[in-house]
Amino acid sequence: MNRVRFPVLAALALLSCSVPVGAPIPVKEASMKVHRVLLGPYETNGLILEDERTREALVVDAGGDADAAFRRIEAIGVKPVMLVHTHAHMDHCLQSVGLAKRLGVQSALHADDLPLWRNLKRQVEMLMGPGSASALGLLDNEDPAVLVKDGDVLSFGDSKVEVVYLPGHSPGGIGLLWRGSPSVLISGDTLFRDGVGRTDLWGGSWEVLLKSIRERLFTLPDDTVVWSGHGDETTIGREKAGFTF
Ligand SMILES: [Zn+2]
Ligand SMILES: [Zn+2]
Repeated sequence: MNRVRFPVLAALALLSCSVPVGAPIPVKEASMKVHRVLLGPYETNGLILEDERTREALVVDAGGDADAAFRRIEAIGVKPVMLVHTHAHMDHCLQSVGLAKRLGVQSALHADDLPLWRNLKRQVEMLMGPGSASALGLLDNEDPAVLVKDGDVLSFGDSKVEVVYLPGHSPGGIGLLWRGSPSVLISGDTLFRDGVGRTDLWGGSWEVLLKSIRERLFTLPDDTVVWSGHGDETTIGREKAGFTF
């Protein structure tokens, strides 16, 4: 077979293809990747949500250890656009003010967790003993620049997540829902693989937590992948099937 003839025929075939005028231009569906970095003594999941096409990223709950989080973000090579907090317990936001400055991004939190955020030093002293906040050199926490609420949409590149209000573990807990096939939910400390968040800390409520889980999370599709504040990922279907609370 003549080696030259085939490309010529292929080129002729391409020329004969026609695209109907006014047909929708195919748009590549946004795809998102989740990177996890374990941070601090409570092994909090710092999550980096990467929009694969633009490499812009939402950084979630990465304040537990600013150095480790910063190194990981640099190593992945993404461009952070915001530091979001599912809630304001110290293991999720201890060094968030410094981390946000290093990343050059704004911090986001639900307003109902501002009392926790503003009392970070007290949280540290309660969990680690008197004098521990000053030993760590903690300064007064500056308020987050962005206050989010239920239904807000946060964009990064071509991707976006919806804020889902999930009170119970703390008054201003939120989740972040990325809709796709399957969808991905960042659940904070509301729902874990094989467990739920504690409610004995400031502002916690068992009844409110169960209502958040039943009404806002267990109504999502079963194949929704769940990334929690601690531990491995799971799915809504798996947790719903084994739910004993
Ligand atoms: Zn927590
Ligand atoms: Zn936690």
